[in-house]
Amino acid sequence: MSWIDPEFPRVATLTDRVGRVLGLNPGMMTGPGTNTYLVGRRDPILIDTGAGVEEYPALLESYLAGRGWTQPSRVILTHRHKDHLGGVEQLRARFPGLAVAKMIHRDTDLPLPIDDLREGHTVYGDGVTLIPVHTPGHASDHLCYFLVEEQALFTGDVVLGGSTTVIPSGDGDLADYMASLRGLLSLDVRRIYPAHGPVIEDGQAKLREYIQHRLMRERQILEALADGVETIPEIVARIYADVSAKLHPVAAQSVESHLKKLAKEDRVRETVARDAPSRWTLVGRTCS
Ligand SMILES: [Zn+2]
Repeated sequence: MSWIDPEFPRVATLTDRVGRVLGLNPGMMTGPGTNTYLVGRRDPILIDTGAGVEEYPALLESYLAGRGWTQPSRVILTHRHKDHLGGVEQLRARFPGLAVAKMIHRDTDLPLPIDDLREGHTVYGDGVTLIPVHTPGHASDHLCYFLVEEQALFTGDVVLGGSTTVIPSGDGDLADYMASLRGLLSLDVRRIYPAHGPVIEDGQAKLREYIQHRLMRERQILEALADGVETIPEIVARIYADVSAKLHPVAAQSVESHLKKLAKEDRVRETVARDAPSRWTLVGRTCS
């Protein structure tokens, strides 16, 4: 199955507590599109709003009507990226007064009003208890939501179905990301509801796989540096040879995040060059 699966269902009732409506924004970064989830046995809470695609509100409404509902009780967001909160304005236009909350953290231009939601502030719906978990790394303001009744986790972009997560070079932080993954392991998660791609049934195994994947990339980067491959484009060409070249600019951001983490740990050093990519070297080796 390809990451951008055209057959991915537009709506789905996954359990009696969780429904899913697709954001209709397929793409290289979003796979089949952003999943928005309706959580609760009645008066459902909506997790994320998609990117603001014109056809989305009608799809959401028809799904709601099919369940005998008229509107979400409130919206909670996983993080500030456009494909998660881009639908806030159109939903407000459709459902006036709809309350929206996220963790407000280093935000500049949010579609206000947005309430601040933090770890420790449990969200209650009909037959559902959602515990926000601060999980920085992909984005500094990222919250996952643990659904107590199902031991399930809404992972936003921290864990995806069918792809690995990008650690953006600006607001992303790989050390934070690894710590977030390790923290989630302690929750004893069964099922994962990712923001992109299908449901993941063995949550614990997927979290461990993600940690292993990052450790593997780190090893590959250290090996590349040991072999004298010193710039990000060269490192990407070497270790992402099996990944489509279209994704290499994104891979470059992840490699940069790895290198920044290693630099913080004093294991590599950056030599900035004018009009050329920085050269990265292992600490203890001299530049040749
Ligand atoms: Zn994101």
